[in-house]
Amino acid sequence: MIKNIPPNVYWYNLKDPKPSKKLLGELKADIVVVGGGMAGLSCAQVLHEAGLQVIIVEKDFCGAGASGKTSGFITPDSEIELGSLLDTYGPEKAKRIWEFVISGVHIIQKNIERYHIECDYHKQDSLFIANNTSGFKHIKKEHEARVQLGYTSTLFDSNTIKKVIGSENYMGGVRYPDTFGMNSFFYCQAMKDVLCKNGVVTYEQSAVERIVGHEIFTPHGRITADHIIVCADRFIPDLGVLKKEIYHVQTFLGITRPLSQENVKKIFPDDAMMVWDTDLVYNYFRLTGDNRLLIGGGDLLYTYARNVTKNTARFGRQLQNYINKKFPNIDLEMEFLWPGMLGVSKDLLPIIGPDEDNDCVFYVGAASGLPWASALGSYAADHLLHGRNEFDEDFSAKRHFVIGRRMQSLLRSPVTYALSHGIAKYL
Ligand SMILES: Cc1cc2nc3c(=O)[nH]c(=O)nc-3n(C[C@H](O)[C@H](O)[C@H](O)COP(=O)(O)OP(=O)(O)OC[C@H]3O[C@@H](n4cnc5c(N)ncnc54)[C@H](O)[C@@H]3O)c2cc1C
Repeated sequence: MIKNIPPNVYWYNLKDPKPSKKLLGELKADIVVVGGGMAGLSCAQVLHEAGLQVIIVEKDFCGAGASGKTSGFITPDSEIELGSLLDTYGPEKAKRIWEFVISGVHIIQKNIERYHIECDYHKQDSLFIANNTSGFKHIKKEHEARVQLGYTSTLFDSNTIKKVIGSENYMGGVRYPDTFGMNSFFYCQAMKDVLCKNGVVTYEQSAVERIVGHEIFTPHGRITADHIIVCADRFIPDLGVLKKEIYHVQTFLGITRPLSQENVKKIFPDDAMMVWDTDLVYNYFRLTGDNRLLIGGGDLLYTYARNVTKNTARFGRQLQNYINKKFPNIDLEMEFLWPGMLGVSKDLLPIIGPDEDNDCVFYVGAASGLPWASALGSYAADHLLHGRNEFDEDFSAKRHFVIGRRMQSLLRSPVTYALSHGIAKYL
């Protein structure tokens, strides 16, 4: 039976975000990091460890943006696959980019181990799965790209896939190791505590309203800093910049009541894995530590909606229908359901770089994935500390996009981004 479930991020029910103090008055620092998501926390960590005095200024609470709402797949795959990178950039550059994202996976993993972070950390393989025969071509291409670039990969066809997923309704898949699942909200909250304990000051409930020269302004305070790194992902355009370069996509995430061990085995006859399919607006699922199934997805119309969708009933039904179709012999009851938006660019690679008119400001946005965000935060810090620049051009807002600014003005953002993403993924 499908109930109407009010939108509610399950993770906040397990742990109250409890924002820390607001920014009041005037302060000075070496660096201000705007945004306490995965990118901002990673950036602040590197800068602090290099001996700089860092302040994080966060609009709500650390993890309040995309980073604290996720399904916690920690895999280099997110919005863009290795096969697409290989087609676009050739083997050398595709591998460099992939290794960069893998560095983000390692940053997160090392922090969990180093600080003993309790975040429902579970090593789980990734499984990219085909919904149909054209999806299988896509899967096969991804497998070949992985093999060509020297990554472990196992390809399943429509028969062998049943050994690892208990469904008659998939046409194959590619599986690979060295990935894990976690509760990303717990991770962000824990990293905030670690950084605070080590001397990084964090102000929450303090939205930066404007940046002028070396100063950031919030409703009740201001900070002067040598450098300002804005890790605000999809919110960057709210500050009046990169309005054509950063937009968002919306996805919906539901979580079931705990499954019996028998039902877990029916879905995952082998090991539990993090699974997503080949559709443009894809569905994804994985098992949490308490045997709940996280299920995500959406549809084309709402993926590119301008604002967060409050009425999630339609998506409760869609996710339930998806899972009923794939696993008809398992009774799953969804308990929580919530929408979330993440920043994206037109070609699904990130947007980073200095402000055109103010070179003490550096932006990190459109990360499209937690490992990406973590690697980018670290890159922005290294850029400042050591002049790191090997991806400056690739991730610059000035790079070439298939749909340029003039055409974008005619098509408007939702159509521009939907078309551009189709091209980035499939052509
Ligand atoms: C439902 C959902 C599921 C997802 N699942 C996965 C997944 O399983 N695996 C994966 O890799 N990725 C996943 N993602 C994508 C991933 O969450 C994002 O790409 C990533 O978290 C971006 O991190 P970020 O730090 O750049 O942005 P955010 O986490 O959005 O952080 C930006 C921060 O800046 C703050 N901010 C904004 N404006 C201001 C301002 N003016 N002043 C101060 N602070 C400001 C925000 O409050 C926010 O905390 C998912 C996203 C969603 C929405």
